[in-house]
Amino acid sequence: MTPLADLLARRIAATGPITVADYMAECLLHPAHGYYATRDPFGAAGDFTTAPEISQMFGELLGLCLAQTWLDQGAPSPFTLAELGPGRGTLMADVLRAARAVPGFHAAAQVVLVEASPVLRQVQAGTLSRQHDHGSRWIQTVGDLPDQPLFLLANEFFDALPIHQFQRDGDRWRQRVIGLKDGGLVFGLSDPVNPLMVGRQFLSDPPGTLVEVCPLASAIIAQVGHRLHHHGGAALIVDYGGWRSKGDTLQALRAHRMEDPLASPGEADLTAHVDFEALAMAASVPHSGLTRQGDLLLRLGIAARAERLAQRLTGAALDNHRAALRRLTDPAEMGSLFKALALHAPGTPPPPGFDPPTHRP
Ligand code: SAH
Repeated sequence: MTPLADLLARRIAATGPITVADYMAECLLHPAHGYYATRDPFGAAGDFTTAPEISQMFGELLGLCLAQTWLDQGAPSPFTLAELGPGRGTLMADVLRAARAVPGFHAAAQVVLVEASPVLRQVQAGTLSRQHDHGSRWIQTVGDLPDQPLFLLANEFFDALPIHQFQRDGDRWRQRVIGLKDGGLVFGLSDPVNPLMVGRQFLSDPPGTLVEVCPLASAIIAQVGHRLHHHGGAALIVDYGGWRSKGDTLQALRAHRMEDPLASPGEADLTAHVDFEALAMAASVPHSGLTRQGDLLLRLGIAARAERLAQRLTGAALDNHRAALRRLTDPAEMGSLFKALALHAPGTPPPPGFDPPTHRP
C-alpha cells in the first residue's frame, strides 16, 4: 500500500466513499504524496514522454502558429504568452526560441506559467533561464491571468484534471465512487444523483452508458474564453480525447506501463481523455474543428523543418530524429490519437493549420 492509499482508506472509513474526481485530485496534487507535487515524471527515466520532450519541432511549430496568430490580430503589445501545466518547460522554451524570428514578439510577450506543482516550477525555471532573458511569472490558477490579450498553449494539461464519472442505471444516473472492501480501494456506484450533474447532451443515452465530466476543465476554459472575448488572443490546446467522447477512459501509467488506477495512488500518473466539445462549449468564443495532431504539424511545415534539422545530424542522432518525426505525426503513433483545438477571439482569423469548424459555437 502506498502512503496515500493508507490516508485515503482512513478517510473513506471515516466519512464514506469518495468521487473519482476527489481520488484523481488527491493522487495528482496531494501536497505531500501527490504524483506531480513530488516529482518530475517525464522522459525515459520517468513514467511517460510528451510531444515537446520527443522533439523540439513540436514547440517550434506551435510557437510559429501562435506568433502568426498574434500578427494576424495586429501584433498587440503587451500580451500574455501563457502555458497551462508546462511540465519541464520544454514547450515554452522551444516556442520562445522559434518566435525570435518574429519581429516584436519577444518585446511584447509577458510569459506566464500556470503550474500547481512546486517541484515542476523549479524545473521550468531552470529550463527557461537557459532560453530567454526576460522574466517569467508563475501563477496558481488561470483566474490570476492579467487582463490583456492572451496567447495560450496547453499540451497534455486537460487530461490531468479530475473527472467525475456517471453511469446510467435504468432510468437513473449514479456516480462512480471509490470505497473500501477488505481494507483495499474498490470502485462502486453512488445513490442516484441529480441528472443535471451529468450534462444535458448525455441524458438520452441508453442504460449502461458511462460519461465523464470535468467541471474544472470547463471552469478553466471559461476563464480563458472570457479573456479572449474581451482582450483578444487565441488558445491552442493539444491532448488526447475526442468530441463528446464516452466510456471509461481513466487510466494509470507507471514506468511507461498501464496499471489499475487504484493500484498505487500517488505513484502513477492518472489521466482521462479530454472531451473537446465540452471545452469548446465552455469557452464561448469561435473555435476550429478538432484537428489530428499529425495533420496540424504537417500543415504547419514539420516535414520541411525536419529536413533542415536532419542536414546537421548523422548516425544514431539522425535515426532518433526521424523516429521522433514519425512518433509525432504517424496515425499509428501520436498522429491521430492526439488532437488539437484552437480557440480565437471573435472576429479574428483562425490560427493557421487547423481544420475548419464543423460545429459553430
Ligand atoms: N505540458 C507538459 C506537461 C504535461 S503533464 C508537457 O507537454 O510535457 C501536466 C502538467 O500540468 C504538469 O506540469 C502538472 O504539474 C500540471 N498540473 C496538473 N494539474 C494542474 C492544476 N490543477 N493546475 C495547474 N497545473 C496542473
